[in-house]
This record gives sequence, structure tokens and C-alpha cells, in this order.
Amino acid sequence: MNALLSSTNAIAAMSGIFGLNIKLIDIAYIVSSIFFIFGIKMLGKADTARRGNMVSSIGMLIAVVATLLYSGLDYTWIIAGIIIGAAIGVVAAKMVKMTSMPELVALFNGFGGLASLLVGWAEYERIKGFGWEGYLAHTQGEFYFSNIVIWLTLWIGGITFTGSILAYLKLSAKISGSAICFKGQKAFNALLALAMVAALVAMCMLPLETAYPVMIAVIALALLLGIFGVLPIGGGDMPVVISLLNSFSGLAAAAAGFTIANTVLIVSGCLVGASGFILTIIMCKAMNRTLANVLFSGFGATDEGSAKVEGEMKAASIEDAYYVLEAARSVVIIPGYGMAVAQAQHAVKELGTMLEANGAEVRYAIHPVAGRMPGHMNVLLAEADVPYEQLAEMDSVNPMMEMVDVALVIGANDVVNPAAVEDPGCPIYGMPIIEAYKARTVFALKRGKGAGFSGLVNKLYFLEKTRMLYGDAKATVSELAGMFKDK
Ligand code: NDP
Repeated sequence: MNALLSSTNAIAAMSGIFGLNIKLIDIAYIVSSIFFIFGIKMLGKADTARRGNMVSSIGMLIAVVATLLYSGLDYTWIIAGIIIGAAIGVVAAKMVKMTSMPELVALFNGFGGLASLLVGWAEYERIKGFGWEGYLAHTQGEFYFSNIVIWLTLWIGGITFTGSILAYLKLSAKISGSAICFKGQKAFNALLALAMVAALVAMCMLPLETAYPVMIAVIALALLLGIFGVLPIGGGDMPVVISLLNSFSGLAAAAAGFTIANTVLIVSGCLVGASGFILTIIMCKAMNRTLANVLFSGFGATDEGSAKVEGEMKAASIEDAYYVLEAARSVVIIPGYGMAVAQAQHAVKELGTMLEANGAEVRYAIHPVAGRMPGHMNVLLAEADVPYEQLAEMDSVNPMMEMVDVALVIGANDVVNPAAVEDPGCPIYGMPIIEAYKARTVFALKRGKGAGFSGLVNKLYFLEKTRMLYGDAKATVSELAGMFKDK
């Protein structure tokens, strides 16, 4: 850090020599932006992700310290805020279960949005305080610009706040997770958006004092839009919503950066906004849906079109499964949310090693939305030291599924539901799945007849070639691994 500060000092001194108007704070902001960019790049791979997080945090620390030193403010309240906020953050992050991580991310997004909203509001109060003289001191263009960026900050911040809180409530099952739609909902949302645009025009036309109630109305409209935007989205689409709200929280921060003319806030906000949006599009592609379809189709409002199945789910004993696995030459392990709940990843890795030692080729097929957060399965399997080369993406594993002796479905449900490819009436029709149903034999490990996140019936469990291994995934897998050890 010392080296970093010395170099930034040197650059600042040099900029003075060359007559450039670069301040130390600008250099600190450039350095922290570089840290953010490298940090995000490192997050792209499981083995560098932890360090990437650390690098980005250091970037943020540099930005915060530089801003505080430069501001010359009384730090008492700021330090109190940092201590209280950090304490809440540490406790929340330590206590949260891995499976509840998306809920925590939703809350973080929401508070990020609220913070941006408050920055926009505070800035409005500040410039309003200058009164008519302040108004006259600015050009018309500057006045419009201030109003537009404040309006954007309030709008995006407000939507992000209430939208994320609603996503949190839905994900944590504190309210119903299904899509809640009412007649005329789209028209109502369009009216809210129109009122928002009208409010911007009023803000630009009226003096700040007079437009104050309009600014408050913008906040109220934004909060309502967040609620009514997320209400009609449900079930399996929540991962996309969280990713989109993550992008919004970045955009809200960038808008707040414009509001208070803070470069590093603009840079970091744009990075979060862009990466969140790219992830949103990747997830939509993984579900073979458009973003508009996810946001406006009301998927999951009813279970009409839910796959109709005949037959029954047939249970097998662990011993039966052991004999089939022992004879298998190729095994594809398909983990899902249930593996995360059971924390079965270490046992799964042990079983995988045993199967390999027994001569089988073992691969782990990863669906992009398996579990409850992007990359959930990759993180768990990396934690259990599953070799990276054994992880196979959906597109590479599906073409060889017919040659696979055993598909071992461990707590996965929606991501292997054949209704998505076979049943045009089914709400998830068109979503790419891992085609476990094509394997010669399927063992599905789950506790009982519980549905997956989307609440749909899974035809895979009813196939003639499928056998259910009921029980907690960790217990079942450990028992299987134990049988390999003993024989
Ligand atoms: P699902 O949620 O579809 O199914 C999980 C299955 O695991 C359940 O059917 C449950 O059945 C079983 N299970 C739960 N606990 C255990 C346990 N201890 N031992 C064994 N089995 C258990 O999971 P998938 O991974 O297949 O699909 C993910 C779903 O979550 C998708 O719909 C996706 O859209 C959604 N989602 C994904 C996010 C992401 O970013 N990845 C974020 C939020 C949602 P039973 O109760 O009978 O045991």
C-alpha cells in the first residue's frame, strides 16, 4: 500500500511538472478502478475468485480512504457508520448459509439501491438550499443535467430497493414465491412509468423549491415500480431477477456518481451494471428465454400446463444402486440444489474417486442455474477439490448422454426435467436441461416427493429406467462410497 501511495504521489508530482491538472484523488480513483477491473476478471475463474474478491475490496478501500481524506469532513458519523455497517455485514456474511446466499445478495442489492436513492435526495436538498441565486448561477444546461441525474438516481435506486426486498421475501419464502398477476397490471406499470417521465419534465421546468413535491412523488413512483415490477415474476425466474437487480444497483450507483460528480462511483457502478447485465443475458440464454419474456410473461402465475405424468416413482435400495454403479463404465454426476442443502459435495467427490478407481469414467455435469445462485455447483465442487477437467458444461455433456451408463442425479430437479424439451404446454418448455433421461440408467437422490424451485412435476422420476434413492443426499452418497470402500 505504501508503494502504491508513493507511486501515486510521484505521478501527481509529475503531472504538476507537465502542467496537467491531475489531483492525488484522481490518481487514487484510477488505481482503485484498476483494482476493480482486475478483481472482476479474477472472479471469472474458480481458482482465482477469492483473490479477485480481495483485490476488488482493496480497490474499494483505496477509494473510500482517498474520498475521506480529500473531503476534509468531520469523520465522527462516517466512522460510526462504517463500524456499525461493517459489523452487520460481517455477522450477516458469517451467519448466512451457502444456500441462502442469493437472499443475502438480494438484500445487498436493495440497500445499495437505497443508498443511491438517499444520495440523490440529499443532493436535491443541497442544491435546493442555494435558492434562487444558486439557480441563476447555473446555466440552463447544468440545471437540466442536475435534474436528470437526480431523477435517474431516485428512479433506479427506488426500483432496486423495493424490487430487491420483494425478491428477498419471495426467495426466503416469507411471501409466496409464485407470480402474482392482476388484470391490467401491464397497463398499470406503464402508467407508473409514464408518470415518472412526466415528473422529469416538471422537475426540469419548475424551480427546485416548487418542484420539491414532484421529486418526492418520483421517489414514491420508483418504490411502487419496484414492487409492481417484481410481483408478476415468480418461481424459476428469480435468479434472473436478482442478477438484473444487481445490475440496477450498479446503474443506481453510477447515476449517484454523476449526481455528486464522483468518478470512482461512476466507474464501479458501470462495472457492476455491465457485469450484472451480461450475467442476466447469459442466464436468459441458459433458460432459452428473452429478458422481456422473463419480466413480463407472468411465468409461474398458475400451474396450468404443468407436465402431466403417468406411472409412479420406483424406489431402489442402496445395495441395488451399488451393483449397477459397480458395473458402470461411464457415470455422469448431476448435482443440484439438494446437494447444496445436504452439503454432500465432499461425499460426492469421494464417491467419484471410488468410481474412477473402479474403472469408470466420471464427469460432473453442471447446469448454469443449478442450485440457488450462478456458479453454485462450481463453488461447492471446487471446495471439495473436484478436478476442474471433470466438470462438464451442459452443451458438451448432452450429446454423449445416450452412451452414459448411469446418470446420478443428486438433489437436482428442474435442471433435469424432460418436460422442458418434450412438453410444449409446459411453462419451462424451451429451457435447456441436462438430458439425464437419455442415459441408460438414472438414479435420482432426493428426500421424498418434493418439487423443485419451479414447483413442476418431473417426468424423469417416473421413467422406467429411473430409480429413486430416497434420503438425505449426503447420507445416501456416503453409504454408497462406504460400500465401494468395503468391497
Ligand atoms: P431444484 O430446486 O429444482 O430441486 C432441488 C431438489 O433437491 C428438490 O426436488 C428436493 O427434493 C431435493 N432436496 C432438497 N434437499 C435435499 C437433501 N438434503 N437431500 C437430497 N435431496 C434434497 O434444484 P435444481 O438445482 O435442479 O434447480 C435449480 C432451480 O432453482 C431452478 O429452477 C433455478 O431456476 C432456480 N434458481 C436458481 C438460482 C441460480 O442462480 N442457480 C437462483 C434461484 C433459483 P426433496 O424435497 O424431495 O428432497
